[in-house]
Amino acid sequence: MHHAFCPEEFWSQDTLRAVQSTRLQTIIEAAARSPFYGQRFAELGIRPEDIRSVDDIRNLPCTTKDDLRAAYPDKMLTLPVRQMARLHASSGTTGAATVVYYTHNDLAAWADLVARCMHMTGIRADDTFQNIAGYGLFTGGLGFHYGAERLGCLTIPAGAGNSKRQLKLLEDFRVTAVHIIPSYALHLASVMEEMDFDPKRLSLRIALIGAEPHTEAMRRRIEAFFGVRAYNSYGLSEMNGPGVAFECPEQNGMHLWEDAYIAEIIDPTTGDPVPEGQMGELVLTTLTREGMPLVRYRTRDLTRFLPGHCPCGRTHRRIDRISGRSDDMIILKGVNIYPMQVESVLMDIPEVGQNYLIVLEREGFLDQMRVKVEVKDEFFVEDMRALKALQQRIAAKLRDEILITPRVDLVESNSLPKSEGKAVRVQDLRPKQ
Ligand code: ADP
Ligand code: ZN
Repeated sequence: MHHAFCPEEFWSQDTLRAVQSTRLQTIIEAAARSPFYGQRFAELGIRPEDIRSVDDIRNLPCTTKDDLRAAYPDKMLTLPVRQMARLHASSGTTGAATVVYYTHNDLAAWADLVARCMHMTGIRADDTFQNIAGYGLFTGGLGFHYGAERLGCLTIPAGAGNSKRQLKLLEDFRVTAVHIIPSYALHLASVMEEMDFDPKRLSLRIALIGAEPHTEAMRRRIEAFFGVRAYNSYGLSEMNGPGVAFECPEQNGMHLWEDAYIAEIIDPTTGDPVPEGQMGELVLTTLTREGMPLVRYRTRDLTRFLPGHCPCGRTHRRIDRISGRSDDMIILKGVNIYPMQVESVLMDIPEVGQNYLIVLEREGFLDQMRVKVEVKDEFFVEDMRALKALQQRIAAKLRDEILITPRVDLVESNSLPKSEGKAVRVQDLRPKQ
């Protein structure tokens, strides 16, 4: 017996493909009415009536972050700006912000999607939900807020930061479910350790974690510390925000909602689709957004489709956790390294605390990596020899994973800079060429 929030969750793959084909035609007709796509389609000789099925998507051009900037502020709108109800902007982690508009219908469809995700993890109307995310232009605030209200939860718009106040709200209102950025969850954990705040004082059972790359080891830490089940949440403002792909109770890959998005995975250098199941860049097309449809948007996020059916019975294909952005890759001494490789090593070492920072430096002509690692208080008081041994053990484990030996600095817990939003994991101090 499945407890579905909506029947779409269990539509067959055949139904999903058929729905995608119909919705794609509608969305391409709408897109062609926007100044940006109107011009682009005309230049490429694309006529909306030529797009008949989801397989024709390969004949359409991709849309990039640069296109969004070129279309700034409103050249991708299919309707007059007066008919838009809200706008959000990406947090600008990698460059200038880009803007996304929503009509009232778009906002309702988005709230439905987020509510579907939350329901899938087991959150119900009788849960009290605290949204520990920046409100304002960041979509993780209002996105989860309206999803939770749609589901019927008592919803606390806590916003980001101010750990002590977060804890007071969590405790006083017996909050059972939260949305929280994973790096902030660990920061909150270290604040609680410092305050001797026993996690058992909280009534939490579910945490929705996402908005930034994180490893399985990071999830396990969050689950163990707070005594919750933590579910991976994937989204991006260009695709509304949260609600694009989400983990089900199996916690094995994120169902990507194929009634609302068409997902492709391509080789980021050639643009060709990768063989089924291989890693590549996720490319997404909105199927239901009327105000500002996006066609084959290159997310720059790296993932793969997971093979096989999910035991939960949901039919929407699953993507693997995002291993990073294609532009996150560090090239050091000719070796390609992703920050998540470093995280997966660090978070498996019990002495390692809740935060770390990768610093890239140049000494003479040589690039060096320095990894600053917070150490849990109980280990930091030990003698120098023990710390030295820990430092060497961390360096050796990192070497096994990333093939170069970084310098390791051990620092006290809570001493590394903590951003209010998404964590900054890499600091590149190398002089620009
Ligand atoms: P910005 O691109 O400025 O960070 P967004 O707030 O739109 O603005 O962030 C979307 C991006 O955040 C995604 O493209 C992805 O790189 C990252 N992200 C979101 N959710 C996850 C997740 N669950 N795992 C890994 N990365 C994620
Ligand atoms: Zn599932």
